[in-house]
Amino acid sequence: MLRVAGVRKSFGDHVVLDGIDLTVEPGEVVCLIGASGSGKSTLLRCIDLLEQTDDGDIFLGDLELTDPAIDENATRARIAMVFQAFNLFPHLSVLQNLTLGPRRVKGVSKAEAVRRAHELLARVGLEAKAGSYPDSLSGGQQQRVALVRAVAMDPELLLLDEVTSALDPLLVAEVLDVIRQLKDEGRTIVMATHEMDFARECADRIVFLAEGRIVEAGPPEQLFTAPQDPRTAAFLARHR
Ligand code: ADP
Ligand code: MG
Repeated sequence: MLRVAGVRKSFGDHVVLDGIDLTVEPGEVVCLIGASGSGKSTLLRCIDLLEQTDDGDIFLGDLELTDPAIDENATRARIAMVFQAFNLFPHLSVLQNLTLGPRRVKGVSKAEAVRRAHELLARVGLEAKAGSYPDSLSGGQQQRVALVRAVAMDPELLLLDEVTSALDPLLVAEVLDVIRQLKDEGRTIVMATHEMDFARECADRIVFLAEGRIVEAGPPEQLFTAPQDPRTAAFLARHR
């Protein structure tokens, strides 16, 4: 589904991604962990074409995302990203937030987009909020809407960048529940997270980054119980 090979990225003379190789299979949930500044967001942003890589290839299926001639509109419907800060359109209702992308980017009819939006809102317990505006929702509710808005596009790949980090601790669980649902329905997800318990329970694979390199990757049980690299062990000990 996703293949990242030899990806490098610097900002000025600061090397932020130093040769990243990563393959993600359909239906896999991969959690990126690592200290702040290790390059997690930059990697996700390179995959989402928000940053240009300096070197290396990124493929989504057969489509080369790093091809300089890529048509970004062709990928927009295939990859969806949700960020730490709630990024709903503040001037649109919850329902309009959910229907805009499918209508504009995918050409879905209004009736079908509305039907699907209600279905998605019901799934995350927010049907009653369809007519509300984002600023009247709690942070957790806004992130649940942001997640189903991403899913409304039916993307092949979902990128989540610390979607619970800005939330009141009491609201984290409701957002993680939605991600768990997305995993259960077979979505392919690459997510940066500091929620170690969630990563351990939900990830098929954990990727530990330090200083722009993948230090270690493997199934959660392996990483958490028998880390091979002392840097992984030290990081996990600090985040227990
Ligand atoms: P993480 O998400 O793991 O915390 P980031 O990918 O956000 O790490 O950042 C990795 C490094 O790249 C950090 O040192 C950060 O300051 C730097 N960085 C990220 N974006 C930019 C940018 N647009 N310009 C300059 N430096 C950046
Ligand atoms: Mg980050």
